[in-house]
Amino acid sequence: MRLAGKKALITAAAAGIGRETALQFVREGAEVWALDIDSGGLNSLAAETAQIKAQVLDLTNTGDLQSFIASAGSFDILFNCAGYVAHGDILSCSLEDWQTSFDLNVKAMYVLTKLVIPGMATAGAGSIINMASVVGVGIAAPSRFAYSATKAAVVGMTKSVACDYVSAGIRCNAICPGTVDTPSLQARLNAFDDPEKARAEFAARQPLGRLGQAEEVAALAVYLASDESAYTTGVAHYIDGGWSNGGR
Ligand code: NAD
Repeated sequence: MRLAGKKALITAAAAGIGRETALQFVREGAEVWALDIDSGGLNSLAAETAQIKAQVLDLTNTGDLQSFIASAGSFDILFNCAGYVAHGDILSCSLEDWQTSFDLNVKAMYVLTKLVIPGMATAGAGSIINMASVVGVGIAAPSRFAYSATKAAVVGMTKSVACDYVSAGIRCNAICPGTVDTPSLQARLNAFDDPEKARAEFAARQPLGRLGQAEEVAALAVYLASDESAYTTGVAHYIDGGWSNGGR
């Protein structure tokens, strides 16, 4: 078991990639603290195994994050998975879309990482994994203006933390998925007139010709959380069906 004895914190753990990662972390021996705003989703996750402790929390509430870390203590692994996809180009991006995107995708990550680093530094070890996207980092996609800006910021933050804390034994890497089949993706597809056609088009963007699976991204998170990845830090790891190598 690659994460035996490790204590991990995962945001957006009630659904999609975060949920699957929580389950894979547990299978690898970790004790997992799962954060999400969705109490129903968290309850169903926690019902799967006693190794998961669930905490309902709005990640954009800095005070709640501070109180949580004050009571939960230190962590060996932090997976900042939460992110919001705002639709639109620069002209249709409202200030509210911009603010909502940065509050969850960037500010919450900054706040939580800042709260977790001191405990990792005291332990002399830690792995931080930040959820970015291939969109905004390796490629552009239509109508993803605010989202792209936030995910580029995530990679910048990742590299900065990796650089500043490498001597403290803390690694920090980013994950950049292509299109992954999750509940929020389905919600975005449902907004199209023909969701099945949209699904086929989204899958075709990736040269491998299909959507990614949450399990595949979670497996990368397990690798980055574990000592198997001890020689990688400050890197944006693509897992995108070949999209960044040239879409079709
Ligand atoms: P999702 O969008 O399906 O689920 C996100 C979870 O975040 C939900 O359980 C939701 O309740 C929770 N959440 C939303 N706002 C919150 C808040 N304020 N406080 C606490 N929890 C909150 O998840 P997903 O599609 O697996 O995406 C996870 C991450 O992966 C995101 O950062 C996303 O940008 C990134 N990503 C996803 C894809 C994709 O195609 N699905 C591709 C690239 C990157």
